[in-house]
Amino acid sequence: MKRIFSGIQPTGDIHLGNYVGAIRNWVYLTETYDCIYCVVDYHAITIAYEIEELKRRTLETALVLLACGLSPDKCKMFVQSHVREHTELAWIFNCVTPIGELERMTQFKDKSKQHRANINMGLMGYPVLQAADILIYKAGYVPVGEDQVQHVELTREVARKFNTRYGDIFPEPQVILSMAPKILGVDGSSKMSKSMNNYIGLLENSDTIWEKLRTAVTDVNRIRRKDPGDPSVCNIFTIHRAFSPDQTLLDIDNGCRTASIGCIDCKKTLFTNMMEELNPIRERAESLNNDIDYVIDVIKAGADKCRAIAEKTMDEVRTTIGVFV
Ligand code: SF4
Repeated sequence: MKRIFSGIQPTGDIHLGNYVGAIRNWVYLTETYDCIYCVVDYHAITIAYEIEELKRRTLETALVLLACGLSPDKCKMFVQSHVREHTELAWIFNCVTPIGELERMTQFKDKSKQHRANINMGLMGYPVLQAADILIYKAGYVPVGEDQVQHVELTREVARKFNTRYGDIFPEPQVILSMAPKILGVDGSSKMSKSMNNYIGLLENSDTIWEKLRTAVTDVNRIRRKDPGDPSVCNIFTIHRAFSPDQTLLDIDNGCRTASIGCIDCKKTLFTNMMEELNPIRERAESLNNDIDYVIDVIKAGADKCRAIAEKTMDEVRTTIGVFV
């Protein structure tokens, strides 16, 4: 069975963008691939963070993944720091990765601007650790959004450099590009994210979700109710595409362009369709919250299975690079 690896940061409050852009697809992929999913806590410490919060958020992220439908019977799910071989391999990869390759990474440039006071080695080496996360399992496929494609390309480059220097050990993984519509934040202008505070959290209460939706930016040129709008430039319509059936999309498209529906009506329909899918997730999250030991058991068992694979790869790597074993 072909193997997939993907990771999610424990940044807290998993939102609609995470769900539509990644997690929903992760669940779907477990039907056809050997999937390894990881809460990447070591990636999260590359920027300033609350020490007391990290553990809680890590657990919460695992809980939400389970609530969204990932099953330990169909995939391996674990926390990155529980399989320490990841960081060992990252160090070895550091020694074959040219600094120039890391300096040109778009995410490094963006984060360096956002976190000027804390441009640390971890921030620059982030994609090297990502390469280790993927390659330690010899994963052939990595489901990502477009913004992460460059990092998978770097992973391929790292695999090539290592293989050229030491012999063929690692595959060059392929990207599985998410076909999900790219959801922006409720500000309608930037990617939905916790740091931009423009997100709709999966587990927020329904009144808060409606309030965020009600006030979310739509087609900025549709100023009055009687103005026709353009769904192709409206983030609300993009979210509709993730949750509403085809006929509703056609009706909304037509109603918007002819001004026969207003934005609030459109948002009410979206809210109904969205909550129909989110409510069971929220209910599962609530019951998992009352059984947190189960969540801990799942991630520990996942780590045990992944460690067994990672140890095997590291035995091979250590022997190959010539360290005294
Ligand atoms: S009617 Fe819907 S799709 Fe059209 S502008 Fe308003 S919110 Fe956007």
